[in-house]
Amino acid sequence: MKTVIPLWDVPAVAVDGSDARFPVRRIYCVGRNYAGHAREMGDNPEREPPFFFMKPAEAIVTDGRMAYPPKTADLQHEVELVVALARGGREIPATGALDCVFGYAVGLDMTRRDVQAELKAKGRSWEMGKAFDASAPISPIVPAARIGHPNRGAISLKVNSQSRQHGDLADMIWSVAEIIANLSAYVALLPGDILFTGTPAGVGRVVRDDQIEGEIEGVGVLSVTIA
Ligand code: MN
Repeated sequence: MKTVIPLWDVPAVAVDGSDARFPVRRIYCVGRNYAGHAREMGDNPEREPPFFFMKPAEAIVTDGRMAYPPKTADLQHEVELVVALARGGREIPATGALDCVFGYAVGLDMTRRDVQAELKAKGRSWEMGKAFDASAPISPIVPAARIGHPNRGAISLKVNSQSRQHGDLADMIWSVAEIIANLSAYVALLPGDILFTGTPAGVGRVVRDDQIEGEIEGVGVLSVTIA
């Protein structure tokens, strides 16, 4: 393709055990998917339909170093199971939805909580609280062909070796298959899309030089330094 400006590299994530990478098309995130986190955010933890927001594909961080973003004094961590889609579609039934999944990773839905709170209070879009540069650190993707489809197991996060978040994938309000079914009713999902599936309780602030370590049993570990 002839382009009028230089073409950029497609954002891509390493695949565990492979020298081929997973190209990222779009990033969809589930707003609240663990009752504990819904409660700590002052929301009703009942099973309402999931809601979604996005981050740009360029927001992924794969080298373990995240620059502290501008315009916030309250940068917060949210450790999440990330789902990478090899196939898409629209109105995908939950039964069989997992056939779309290429693999899983550990991700951080980094959040400017102060900005988000202000936007929320005014009934405005969360965008600048969520969809900023380097807001989506992610570990290498582990193929489902190797680990299957995790639906239980510890999900946890430490900051400077101190435990902050702890939950279990079994406590997700909406399962991965149900998230795919719900989201594909709104948009046609595509190969390369990745889904952040919500965070357990214990979100909190990080500052420069903090070392974040997120871990999901059976999926992997993600280490990020706030630079
Ligand atoms: Mn989140």
